[in-house]
Amino acid sequence: MILFRKKSDLAIRRGDLKKNNFKIGLVPTMGALHAGHLSLVKRSIKENDYTIVSIFINPTQFNDKKDLISYPKNLTKDCQYLDSVSRDIIVFAPEISEIYDKNLSVKKFNFQGLDKFMEGKYRRGHFNGVATVVSHLLDIIKPNNAYFGEKDYQQLRIIQQLVIDNNISANIIGCDTIREEDGLALSSRNSKITEPYRKFACKIFEAINYARINFNSMNFDDIYNYVNNFFDNIDDIELEYFTIAESEFLIPVNKKTIDKKYRAFIAVKLQGVRLIDNIALN
Ligand code: AMP
Repeated sequence: MILFRKKSDLAIRRGDLKKNNFKIGLVPTMGALHAGHLSLVKRSIKENDYTIVSIFINPTQFNDKKDLISYPKNLTKDCQYLDSVSRDIIVFAPEISEIYDKNLSVKKFNFQGLDKFMEGKYRRGHFNGVATVVSHLLDIIKPNNAYFGEKDYQQLRIIQQLVIDNNISANIIGCDTIREEDGLALSSRNSKITEPYRKFACKIFEAINYARINFNSMNFDDIYNYVNNFFDNIDDIELEYFTIAESEFLIPVNKKTIDKKYRAFIAVKLQGVRLIDNIALN
C-alpha cells in the first residue's frame, strides 16, 4: 500500500501507470473501511492492473453538520486493512484543501430527475456534493473502471448518469451489497449503534425483504401500509422514508408495469444514526 496526500504526487504516479498502459480501477470511499468496501476493492484488483482507493470524508455531501463531525475516521487503520489485502493498492487521502477552495464551492448538476426523491429529497444538496467530489476524482485519476456499491443505489445511478452527460470515459461498475448474517447492510455508521440498539438494526432489512418476498402477491399500497405499521410498532426506529421506485429513473410508484424493474428504498434513524438500504424487488 502506498499513500498519497497530494493530488500532484498522485498525478505523477498515475501518469507513469498510464504510460505503461496499465488498467486503473478507482474505489471512492469515505474511510472507516469494512467488508463492504473490501468487496469493491477486491473486484477492482481482479479487473485492473492497479487499484486506487480514495479515502475522503467529503464535507459538501453532509447536509447535517453533526453527522459530518461524528463520522467515523481512522486513516491508519484503513491503510493497514488495505495493506493486508494487497501491497500494490494506492491510497489517495487528500486534505480538504486539495479538493476544494476556501468556500467549499460545489457545482450544480442536472441529474435528469434522478435526485428528486429518496436521498435527494431528504438530504438537500447531497448529490451535488457527491458529484462534485466524484467528478474531481475521476478527473485526477482518469480510471478505466470505477466501483460503486448498490448499497447507495441512487448514488450509483447518479454517477452513471454523470459520466454519460459529461463524456467521462470511465466504466461505472455497480457492486452487490454486503450484509451481516441478520441482513443488516454493512456501513461505516453501524459502528455508532451500541449493543442494546443493535438488535433493532436488522428490522431495516426485514422490511425491505418483506417487500421483495411479497412483490408478486401484494399490491404496492398494501406493502406500504405493512411497512409503515411495522415501524410504527418499533419505538426505537424512526422511519424517514420507505419508497418503492422504478429502478432506472428512480420515480416512486404505486403500481407495477409489466417489464419494469423496481427497488424498495429505506432510510431510518436508529439511536440518532441515519441508516439507508435498498433491495431489488424483481
Ligand atoms: P462510503 O465510504 O460509505 O462512501 O462508501 C464507499 C463505497 O462503498 C460506496 O460506493 C458504497 O456504496 C460502497 N459500500 C458501502 N457499504 C457497502 C456494502 N455494505 N456493500 C457494498 N458496497 C458498499
